[in-house]
Amino acid sequence: MNPEAEQARSSQDLVEDRRSQTSLALILFGPPGSGKGTQAKLLVKTLAIPQISTGDMLREHVRTGNAVGTKVEAKMKAGILVKDEVVNRLVDERLAQPDAARGFILDGYPRTRAQAETLCDLLSGRGADAVVVHLVVDYNVIIARLTGRRQCPVCGTLYNVVSKPPRVAGVCDLDGAALIVRDDDREEVIRERLAAYEKQTRPLIDFFRENGKRLYDVDASHETPEAVSRKILVLIRSHDHS
Ligand code: AMP
Repeated sequence: MNPEAEQARSSQDLVEDRRSQTSLALILFGPPGSGKGTQAKLLVKTLAIPQISTGDMLREHVRTGNAVGTKVEAKMKAGILVKDEVVNRLVDERLAQPDAARGFILDGYPRTRAQAETLCDLLSGRGADAVVVHLVVDYNVIIARLTGRRQCPVCGTLYNVVSKPPRVAGVCDLDGAALIVRDDDREEVIRERLAAYEKQTRPLIDFFRENGKRLYDVDASHETPEAVSRKILVLIRSHDHS
């Protein structure tokens, strides 16, 4: 069987396996620019469980201009973390929705020890099986990715001027909208976001280990997103059968 067919079959098996098991809580962990969002979108297709991105949820609140949006907007623009109680509530409410019953992919959460503790409580209440995938990426690759990032303000599709340019420069392939640089992808804000990661988020690696969560390092610097996604699927699979 060729690699693509084998991959397709094992992905299908994985979906089938998931139907009969406890739900999967896949935690995509890593610094800004490590590809968590890209991986989440690829894995949603294969695993048929939803992506839960706290960054996307918060941006949506900012876009609609509601009370949560007003509270978090300045912090997000500055690249610093919003309050734990705000994101914990968003995640708690999102996990209660029916599409998350068979599992979910967390992208950008947890980011602090208080969030990780809340998540552990939420998971133990649901009997979900947690797998943490740590996307390991060189610092220079992260900077190149984040400074080159462009986003469609209409559909949210992400591009990169170097690694994933749109067909026509500056224009979304899907709906023709003019692409934008996210406020928090400006260079001084990128520095803040990376500092927040180092100080508040990276230490969670030890927290996950101490709390008996399975944590896998995956090199995500050089390979294509599809190749990284295949590696993650193999790890989930080995986890299922161990
Ligand atoms: P992201 O798109 O995941 O990089 O998130 C963008 C911004 O949203 C971050 O720089 C934070 O200001 C905020 N944010 C997203 N997720 C969290 C979280 N789990 N905890 C605190 N702030 C968050």
